[in-house]
Amino acid sequence: MPKQFCEKCGKETEHKEFIKQKPSAYGPGKKEQFKAFVDGLVSGYGGGGLAAIELIDRYVVCEACGHKKLENFGDEFK
Ligand SMILES: [Zn+2]
Repeated sequence: MPKQFCEKCGKETEHKEFIKQKPSAYGPGKKEQFKAFVDGLVSGYGGGGLAAIELIDRYVVCEACGHKKLENFGDEFK
């Protein structure tokens, strides 16, 4: 598990990561549009499995206090 600074604990603690799909960007009934979008991304990224970057939120949760922090893909993907 990655150690990260927790604002609540005020120190570095063990964190676990989880990923949540963004519900909002594509409403119901837009599956075809969604698929086209994903297909475009897949080809854009060479099908390397990064297609869903725009569609998910990544969180880290402090294992000590349960504080949840949104950690969308940052520097490592720029
Ligand atoms: Zn904490």
